[in-house]
Amino acid sequence: QGTALVVGASHSGAQLAASLRQEGWAGEIILIGDEGALPYQRPPLSKAYLAGKSTLEELAIRKADFYAKQQIQLVNARVESIDRTERRVMLAGGKSMSYDKLALCTGGRARRLPVPGADLPGVHYLRTFSDVEQIRESAQPGRRAVIVGGGYIGLETAASLRALGLDVTVLEAADRVLERVTAPEVSAFYERVHRDAGVTVRTRALVEALGGDDRVREVRLAGGEKVPADLVVVGVGLQPNTELAAAAGLLVDDGVVIDDRARTSDHDIVAAGDCTSHVMARYGRCVRLESVPSAVEQAKVAAATMCGKDKTIAALPWFWSDQYDLKLQIAGLNTGYDEVLLSGDPSCDRDRDFTCFYFRAGELIAADCVNRPRDFAFSKRTLSPGLPVGREALLGIAPS
Ligand code: FAD
Repeated sequence: QGTALVVGASHSGAQLAASLRQEGWAGEIILIGDEGALPYQRPPLSKAYLAGKSTLEELAIRKADFYAKQQIQLVNARVESIDRTERRVMLAGGKSMSYDKLALCTGGRARRLPVPGADLPGVHYLRTFSDVEQIRESAQPGRRAVIVGGGYIGLETAASLRALGLDVTVLEAADRVLERVTAPEVSAFYERVHRDAGVTVRTRALVEALGGDDRVREVRLAGGEKVPADLVVVGVGLQPNTELAAAAGLLVDDGVVIDDRARTSDHDIVAAGDCTSHVMARYGRCVRLESVPSAVEQAKVAAATMCGKDKTIAALPWFWSDQYDLKLQIAGLNTGYDEVLLSGDPSCDRDRDFTCFYFRAGELIAADCVNRPRDFAFSKRTLSPGLPVGREALLGIAPS
């Protein structure tokens, strides 16, 4: 079988390398990553790791001896280009490596804030463990942290920094936090929870510039207001790392385009994880997911494909977010929903659990479950087969 090269050593790359062995790849497996660390779990970065409750060692996806036992070679290098004709990748520094099969698991990087002052010292992003180490250095109790972006990462960061004793402000340009991903009732719940925890949540707050001298001192909003800041954490989305694939002539449409078997437009090259876009039969459109369960599933399928086996990407997308004592678990994608049904009362001050079921044309498509693991398990099980579940049927069977 020769040499399998995996570019990108995180959730999808590490899984792909491990699955290759399980699927029977007998040749060399080389996992190339550029972060200088064993593949580690990214979700805890904005949660336990930022809050100082876990170490990088504890975040390792697998221990070092796993890779040794499985004869997976870890290489710390940056791949700069791919020569598909010669089947080689070129590394930074001038070396190159040849492959028989190639997998792209290059993930994404934090989208930069396109305003003046965004490169001042004290302005942070949150994608890697070293980003978090820098944030932690300046996150002293009593300091003023301004978070730009009220998405999951921004809100998780707010909760963690609050727990560290900082004075935290979240600035969100839209009318409400989590606007892109949840119903207004869920957004209102999270805004209240954060305010109750002492976070200042500002919506319709459009950042125009960051100001300071030797470091950031303030965030300037449209309309002229200035919000003082000792540190700024920007969480405004992900930019998929597709440049390698695009320069090699592979089809890219937001992400590296893959089919149900994780093959790119060159069938000798597979791709998996946050860097991919793929037409999901379940939704009838091209979707680029940013979640660990999806990265892991795509990686397993990609490994099977590399070994000449027949597996397809089919699982229901799911996701989670931890903030304070709240575990939000999300089953399915709610895109295009036209109705919601609430089980529990998110507007009640006392209750810290509810589920928001999303419907489109009378059929269940997704559920946001806050501290309701049973509702989540039910929703995942019900939605997974892709069969229609109507509102009435749901009312009869849903737990609450
Ligand atoms: P990535 O994790 O982005 O890894 C890609 C790797 O490839 C990186 O190490 C990168 O440096 C490397 N690389 C890129 N280009 C090259 C190159 N040319 N040469 C060598 N190496 C290269 N998901 C959830 O499901 N639940 C959560 O609660 C959750 N929370 C999150 C919190 C934070 C703060 C972040 C940042 C993400 C969170 N996610 C969460 C998303 C989840 O982490 C991603 O979906 C997952 O990491 C995707 O894995 P991946 O391997 O595809 O890509």
